[in-house]
Amino acid sequence: MEKIDSFLTELASHLPSSRFTRDVGECEYFAQDWSRTLTPFASAVVFPQNTDEVSKVLSLAHQHRIPVVPSGGRTGLSGGAVATQGEVILSTVKMNRIGEIHAGSLTIQVEAGAITQAVHEHCSTLGLTWPVDFASKGSSTVGGNIATNAGGIRVIRYGNTRNWVLGLTAVSMDGTIHRFNRDLEKNNTGYDFRQLLTGSEGTLGVITEATLKLCPLPKSTSLFFFALEDFKQLLGLFDYARSRFPGLSAFECLDHASLSEVLAFSGESMPLSTPGKVYALMELENTPDSESEEGLTGIFENGLALDGIMARSDTEKKRLWHYREGVAEAILTGHLVHQEDVSVPVRTLGEFYTEIEERYSTTLPGFEVFFFGHIGDGNLHIFIRKPVTMSADEFRETAKDSDFQLFRTLEKYHGSISAEHGIGLLKKHAIGFSRSQAEIELMRGIKQGFDPLGLLNPGKIFDQTR
Ligand SMILES: Cc1cc2nc3c(=O)[nH]c(=O)nc-3n(C[C@H](O)[C@H](O)[C@H](O)COP(=O)(O)OP(=O)(O)OC[C@H]3O[C@@H](n4cnc5c(N)ncnc54)[C@H](O)[C@@H]3O)c2cc1C
Repeated sequence: MEKIDSFLTELASHLPSSRFTRDVGECEYFAQDWSRTLTPFASAVVFPQNTDEVSKVLSLAHQHRIPVVPSGGRTGLSGGAVATQGEVILSTVKMNRIGEIHAGSLTIQVEAGAITQAVHEHCSTLGLTWPVDFASKGSSTVGGNIATNAGGIRVIRYGNTRNWVLGLTAVSMDGTIHRFNRDLEKNNTGYDFRQLLTGSEGTLGVITEATLKLCPLPKSTSLFFFALEDFKQLLGLFDYARSRFPGLSAFECLDHASLSEVLAFSGESMPLSTPGKVYALMELENTPDSESEEGLTGIFENGLALDGIMARSDTEKKRLWHYREGVAEAILTGHLVHQEDVSVPVRTLGEFYTEIEERYSTTLPGFEVFFFGHIGDGNLHIFIRKPVTMSADEFRETAKDSDFQLFRTLEKYHGSISAEHGIGLLKKHAIGFSRSQAEIELMRGIKQGFDPLGLLNPGKIFDQTR
């Protein structure tokens, strides 16, 4: 505590008192993310307003040997922004300026705390977008998106966040300000630190500003919702859509249990007359209506779906998207949930799904297990809810056991134990299933280079000492 006291006393001579707090309620609030399974504990929260202030906060924390956790919108699902050891939280909420769009280079400069959706809205006035998109965009920040290399609903068309970042300003733990890549489209001058920080989960530096690459908004979109007999039929539909529709921009799925949760949570009724075991949401960009209609007819003529609809208005599009985007909130709200976010190569997805689905029904009988995700990317989310009659501790133990079986299966398929949510604290124990020991040692070496004292987001992704 003494260390924190002297750190904050010194900080007070550089920053106004409104820029940090030790209020217990605020510390608890900012020490938690959406995973909500860890006990939050932070000593203070600081709210710098610009890169220089971030540099000041970090260099003082460095001098006083205070661990710091970078924090954005706290929508993360792996505990990356969570403080559990009395760290100081560095929040970017006051760094949310969105700059001018540069029409020639199709870029925009933003501060790290800018909300993802606010960036979308700003760019849409010029018919442009930053195509990083998912259900939590109303709260997530650009800095958090970059730090997690976020995926989302349009990865099959646009790729992950790292494709859409041109330059980064970041501050390392000793307070040094770096301007990585300086917005150059071409720059082959050694290691690309901009890409290294992308997906580094706040362990190498605090991102304070970014130059984002933009692309035109599609002129039109068509959206379909299909009921399918089973996962095999879902994958058949995906194969068809990939070859038939060059404008395919999203192909998402949810099982019947997930759809039922969304409908119950939002008080809506079943959208299709024939229920399926699984459902697909398919979006096409810039595809004329006549082609979309033809495609829909082709799908039914070829027996590729049980039932389906095409949205006829923007309101209907919103409703159909909600069936998929509302899943996480509907399952998580008010429940203790164990979450998986795995991926395998798309070509092995069918085999992988059959194997794990069967195993869940035999190893966790009576548990509510939900499958949904970004099928086009080979990315499945599996959410397991605590049964009402089970204690939280017993649930955690049981879920952990089932984790290891899942991860062994993933190893067989050369899959990833964290497709898009990162490792944070919650997946740390399992990183060895997806990365070799040699790779983990290389990561330790990189961390050592950026942060030799191990003060920035300590214990996230891996422990610095073995
Ligand atoms: C309903 C829901 C749906 C979601 N859907 C998706 C999805 O489809 N795809 C997907 O990829 N994710 C998804 N997520 C997870 C989450 O929204 C993303 O990981 C998002 O990118 C996190 O951004 P954030 O600002 O909330 O980051 P935070 O949760 O605040 O932080 C995440 C990590 O980034 C670090 N960090 C934050 N800001 C900075 C910074 N400025 N500099 C350095 N490090 C920083 C933190 O330390 C932490 O390690 C979803 C979450 C929810 C709740």
